[in-house]
Amino acid sequence: MKEVRTFVLATRNLGKAREISAMLDLPDVKMTTLRDFPAMPEVEEDGATFEENALKKARETARHCGVPALADDSGLEVNALDGLPGIRSARFAGDDASDDDNNRLLLERMETVPEERRTGRFVCVLALVEPAGGELVVRGECCGTILDGPRGSGGFGYDPLFYYAPLNKTFAEMTSEEKSRVSHRGEALRKLHAVLAGAPDGA
Ligand code: IMP
Repeated sequence: MKEVRTFVLATRNLGKAREISAMLDLPDVKMTTLRDFPAMPEVEEDGATFEENALKKARETARHCGVPALADDSGLEVNALDGLPGIRSARFAGDDASDDDNNRLLLERMETVPEERRTGRFVCVLALVEPAGGELVVRGECCGTILDGPRGSGGFGYDPLFYYAPLNKTFAEMTSEEKSRVSHRGEALRKLHAVLAGAPDGA
């Protein structure tokens, strides 16, 4: 029988933690969160890329907690906006912006952009860092188009504006299974799963 490995997920968000452990689905990995390490200070996401931010969070968490740390960074890149909101996706309309605020600003910025130029992609980067220094980074992407108004009531963030043509649905109109199958996060987690399922000692 394989020895159980403990990872800490660099988040205090239990919903995110549950989603990631369910999708990773590794019976020999026990996933804890920063809720088990309350003294861990907030990590400033000041990198220039999703990779820099995910790696910084994972490195600082692994150093503080002394166990392998998994961190994610994700967002929406819109071609007509030169990649914005990108790494600023959560704070596009300001530091305390809600999903509605961010979606409203995105629609405003896209008001004059014609349909054929409304392309973009969701990106998810996962970084796994071991206290001893081993590092692994994987990236998932999902391409779609930005609608001129919201459709659907599921999901979060930019989901109601992100249209995925192969299923003829926005992310907010998909079931969570459909979204996991096609999403940036699903792709990144499948890549991580493939590496970890074959690695007896973690990263
Ligand atoms: P973070 O990775 O938790 O920093 O989230 C980044 C931001 O990107 C979120 O607050 C959302 O605005 C956006 N985002 C990331 N993934 C998704 C998604 O699957 N659907 C909708 N918005 C997303």
